[in-house]
Amino acid sequence: MFHRPSHTSHSALLFQTPESGPHTHHHFYHQHPSNRSQPPHAPYTAGPGTRPPPVPPREVIAPPSRGPDPVARELKTVSFPRDCLNRFTSIASINTARNRETCGLLLGKDNGGRFVVTTLLIPKQHSTSDTCAMDGEELVMQFTEERSLITLGWIHTHPTQSCFMSSVDLHTHSGFQRMLPESFAVVCAPNSTPNFGIFRLTDPPGLQTILECQASEAFHPHPERPIYTDADKGHVQIRDLPLEIVDLR
Ligand SMILES: [Zn+2]
Ligand SMILES: [Zn+2]
Repeated sequence: MFHRPSHTSHSALLFQTPESGPHTHHHFYHQHPSNRSQPPHAPYTAGPGTRPPPVPPREVIAPPSRGPDPVARELKTVSFPRDCLNRFTSIASINTARNRETCGLLLGKDNGGRFVVTTLLIPKQHSTSDTCAMDGEELVMQFTEERSLITLGWIHTHPTQSCFMSSVDLHTHSGFQRMLPESFAVVCAPNSTPNFGIFRLTDPPGLQTILECQASEAFHPHPERPIYTDADKGHVQIRDLPLEIVDLR
């Protein structure tokens, strides 16, 4: 565990604070502003999981007829190493077999015209079958600062459920995307098809909807709008790139 930060002017971590209670609106530090320039998105269509959360997500899809949101058109491209998916799933396999989630941070650099994910960081953490919270914030901040890395996104498993963003995931991700519009969320669902998804909140209306949401339950419904969408058919590009993995557990 660790303490609530005295400021939230930067960086993105989904650390759970002691007083955040069951509904973890996580806290975020450490992020860099960005320029933008990049293309649109296709919608995501995932069915409900074999073990859906208490309230299944209704906010899944940004229909193609709506086209990309205004912010999406301006995002810088993020290159994401293809290897990350299999390697993270492999690292998570012990937890997955125990029906517990695993989470990690996707760190990288701003190479001028684009962001590049270079590092998968697995922080200390604790998890359940449908949540995962990071611990040891100081270690993560120390690591990212020493290496001058930017938090570009986060990745987590759904051990038995399908590949979608739960309401908890959406709230976690809103903190990342508020700090860096290019931030993306990767969900790995090793026992489902499709077995991964790369997502962002629509902006508008998804980001604003989640940031304004006052729900007190961990899992809860949101208004039926296109809250989130695929990012890998948009500004996130899967590439054959080297990936460093650092496990702090
Ligand atoms: Zn999730
Ligand atoms: Zn909400």
